[in-house]
Amino acid sequence: MDQEAYTCENCSSSTHDDLVNICLWHGDRLVIVEKVPARVCDRCFEQFFDQLTTFKLDALRGTGFKAADAARVLEVPVFTFPQGAPVETEAKEPVTVDRRGTVYDWWADS
Ligand SMILES: [Zn+2]
Repeated sequence: MDQEAYTCENCSSSTHDDLVNICLWHGDRLVIVEKVPARVCDRCFEQFFDQLTTFKLDALRGTGFKAADAARVLEVPVFTFPQGAPVETEAKEPVTVDRRGTVYDWWADS
């Protein structure tokens, strides 16, 4: 990434260089690519990738993510989001979840 100050295209906040993990669906397989260089927003955690990184990710996808090339294999539990109306009838505030999965205002009292 270039050294000049880079602001988030989402919220205009400052960003920093980081290495991130990316989850990708490849057909019916979920794969994780670790240590991907990115600019990460300090506020909303949006991740931005430069052209070379995007090219390398596309090249990796082009290999078909062969199992023999994987650094390791993880077993991942899968949950179904609960359907139907919530048990509580009182109106609740909307929930905000950032890119890291941190939940804010969960069932906040209004
Ligand atoms: Zn942002």
